[in-house]
Amino acid sequence: MSKVIVIGCGGVASVAIHKCCQLDTVFTDLLIASRTLSKCDKIKNDLKGKTKTNIETRKIDASNFNELVSLFNEYKPDIVMNLGMPYYNLIIMDACLECNCHYLDTAAYEPENVDEPIWREKYEKRCKEKGFTAYFDYSYQWEYHDKFVKKGLIALLGCGFDPGVTQAYVAYAKKHEFDRIDTLDILDCNGGDHGYPFATNFNPEINLREVSSDGAYYENGKWHRIDALSIKDTYDFDSVGKKDIYLLHHEEIESIAKHFPEIKRIRFYMTFGESYIRHMKCLENVGMLRTDPIDFEGHKIVPIQFLKALLPDPASLGERTTGKTNIGCIFKGIKDGKEKNYYIYNVCDHQESYLEVNSQAISYTTGVPAMCGALMILKGIWTKTGARTVEEYDPDEFIKALDKYGLPKRESYNPTMVK
Ligand code: NDP
Repeated sequence: MSKVIVIGCGGVASVAIHKCCQLDTVFTDLLIASRTLSKCDKIKNDLKGKTKTNIETRKIDASNFNELVSLFNEYKPDIVMNLGMPYYNLIIMDACLECNCHYLDTAAYEPENVDEPIWREKYEKRCKEKGFTAYFDYSYQWEYHDKFVKKGLIALLGCGFDPGVTQAYVAYAKKHEFDRIDTLDILDCNGGDHGYPFATNFNPEINLREVSSDGAYYENGKWHRIDALSIKDTYDFDSVGKKDIYLLHHEEIESIAKHFPEIKRIRFYMTFGESYIRHMKCLENVGMLRTDPIDFEGHKIVPIQFLKALLPDPASLGERTTGKTNIGCIFKGIKDGKEKNYYIYNVCDHQESYLEVNSQAISYTTGVPAMCGALMILKGIWTKTGARTVEEYDPDEFIKALDKYGLPKRESYNPTMVK
């Protein structure tokens, strides 16, 4: 028996809720709390008669600490799954500490307004000292580590696919395939087609901020910054085919570099089509990706939030998206004194995801690991307390759960390596 609160009710949350409800002997009680109550009620109605999980719904503003605390105190969850916006990670972690429940999310903290002066000062200092220019950064959440340890609680950070499963793949590779890992390339390929000239397949604000920012990779103990999308290659993906890949900064590079210092080089690549990049550059050039409020006819509006209101809702793309995703990790290293290459990845089909849980594969590949991470905590398989990322836990049961609940791994011992 367990009581779970899911915060947010978008694409990722919807999948996680469906998957929790498939395991109704573990996830017996679920409260969906989000900004728009009608979305929570719709999922509850869709699941009526299909699960024994008792589902409740509630409207909440996740930026309001008192609202969170009063809801958590009333419902008494074992775990809160924060599947809304990463802007509220810290405040939700504070509320979990206050009410003694575990915490899980799928994206590292970043502030809503990156021009906010106090945050900006700290950010500029970090850029100068570390050459690390991303807006997201685990240090804010790692500062909570001791507080969670003291309370005997777990804050599982970044338990989607990437971040999330990619780190479990690193722990798995180190445990079963290598004595030493030398290089790691994380490859995130979306071979899906939704038929729109431009749409993002997860939250537009977070997606566009990530892709339009400087890229970076980690090599020999240092961050190497590059201009956004300035390193491009092509890769021939299993079940998808040849795609352009671009080097991005991604949050798991930071935690993998911390927990696996033996890895000399860590890079992250994502696929984008030409149309996506053309649209994004144009929107950026006209100021539509700005995150600071501007005055418009007497109202304050944040351009990127206004843009989000115009773009297709990622949660609505499921029905029209075809094709597959392919996400995984390619390693080079040493086993038994010999050089070795190894690729572990998952292929997920957009239409199969839609038929199972009404969502496209990007939400599916994030929502399933979130459910599996909560399962590891609720079943007492992952017990190390504190604010931790996925690679800090034993990967075997988690990967078994992913195999079983929709994201089976594939492996190659002779992969094509990225240049
Ligand atoms: P969506 O935009 O579809 O969903 C976000 C949800 O959060 C919406 O339901 C929204 O409410 C709700 N929300 C926003 N503000 C508030 C608030 N103040 N109070 C309460 N609820 C709020 O996003 P996705 O589902 O696509 O993404 C969810 C998270 O998953 C993001 O952090 C994203 O970065 C992350 N992600 C992680 C991946 C991984 O592999 N690790 C991959 C993809 C996404 P409303 O319905 O009213 O808009």
